[in-house]
Amino acid sequence: MRNCRDISALVSQGLDKKLSLRERFAVWLHVMMCNRCRNFQTQTQFIRKAARHYTDDLQSRLDKKL
Ligand SMILES: [Zn+2]
Repeated sequence: MRNCRDISALVSQGLDKKLSLRERFAVWLHVMMCNRCRNFQTQTQFIRKAARHYTDDLQSRLDKKL
């Protein structure tokens, strides 16, 4: 069983690269039981989504100007 520090590191890594099946399973299993890591995962995914919206929006504004 991995601890919260391992899981939050995996969650962060998962934003930049695709995790292995084993890693994703470890995260999934852990967040099923751990509120703290579930919240962390939700927040990091939200931030990533918000950041992507922001860069997409910025890109479309730049495209319109050209
Ligand atoms: Zn945890």
